[in-house]
Amino acid sequence: MESLDSLLDPRYPDVRIECSMARAEYALHAATVALAEQLAAIHETLVEARAFPEVFLGPCILSTPDAVAFAERAAVADLAVRLGLAEQTVRAQAEQVRVLLLCAPRVWRAFRDGDVPGPNAKVVADLMATLPESAWLPFEDAILEAAAELAPARFRDRARSARERVQPREATELHRLKAQERRVWVDHDVDGMSWLTAYLPSAVAQRAMARIDGAATSLICASDETRTLAQLRADVAGDLLAGVLGSAAPHVGVTVGVMVPVMTLLGRSEQPATLEGYGPIDAATARELAGHAPSFIRILTDPITGTILDVDRSTYRVPADLKRWLEMRDRTCTFGGCGRRARDCDIDHSVAWADGGTTSASNLSHVCRSHHRLKHNSLWKVEHRPEGITWTSPTGAKTAPNPAPF
Ligand SMILES: [Zn+2]
Repeated sequence: MESLDSLLDPRYPDVRIECSMARAEYALHAATVALAEQLAAIHETLVEARAFPEVFLGPCILSTPDAVAFAERAAVADLAVRLGLAEQTVRAQAEQVRVLLLCAPRVWRAFRDGDVPGPNAKVVADLMATLPESAWLPFEDAILEAAAELAPARFRDRARSARERVQPREATELHRLKAQERRVWVDHDVDGMSWLTAYLPSAVAQRAMARIDGAATSLICASDETRTLAQLRADVAGDLLAGVLGSAAPHVGVTVGVMVPVMTLLGRSEQPATLEGYGPIDAATARELAGHAPSFIRILTDPITGTILDVDRSTYRVPADLKRWLEMRDRTCTFGGCGRRARDCDIDHSVAWADGGTTSASNLSHVCRSHHRLKHNSLWKVEHRPEGITWTSPTGAKTAPNPAPF
């Protein structure tokens, strides 16, 4: 009783500070143990899904050679929805456990005990994955103590130099392997700005990305092309910026949609507009894009109901209008959390044409190639509801509805 009083006593701030610091240390330790437990559970779920694919697949797919891979994909999507994580993150976390268990079991144990911080465990797994089997033990020996003792930024440097010492491969070979991972992407910031690792107004970044994409997509059609779409995007962007124009970066006309409420366009309202692939942008920028910029498709919306009034019919026939409208409605693949842009997706009949599904907005949705295959090859289901499109997993988890931005 007396000790509790002494904590609250204003004469002993040092005791209170010591106490709150100890609380923070204790909480961090508990959080590390909890993170390791989350990763272990994800890894074990995928091991189970591979062993028992029938939980995730219908009988037709179960007998195919790809059953195990499809069951794993369905389980990854299921976990992503339940945990509110990107599928890539779920896969990366499962892979982290697999690598640590196989290549650095002592680091894994220390991580599970809360003695190696989560970021350090991730660095070990990332670097370990780049090493051949002969280097696993020497690398773990070299970093084991530091992983428990050093803060993440310092540990990363230490681990990188340890990796250089133990890795037997030639630097040129390593560069060749790394170069295969080249790619281009846009990260969206707030207030109408985006990073294309240049901080740009989102309208500029979206248009630049659309141009890179258009050129890369036209190049990949060549029969002798062996590069992936991601590699082509990186090569096109590099060529454009370095001024090496020509066959590597054909000029492709690109358009980006901007959806503007009528009253905003008329200057009578400051209600924000929607830039395709980004989201809300301010009224003044929207007016400028909708009024003058030739490469933006203007889509007007009703100020009260938000429904589409006009889709610039001068350049697009009806089927193209519907496609454009669906692109604006869906913006991305409609699977919860998938960021693949609608224009890179397939338009899928949610209820198959053969099963009586119609070709209409209420039965069509954008689905990326990966989630399209997931839908057709596993027990995942798609539903159109007033609040947006929802996916339901084989085990009953639902994605949050993906409402239209208008
Ligand atoms: Zn998708």
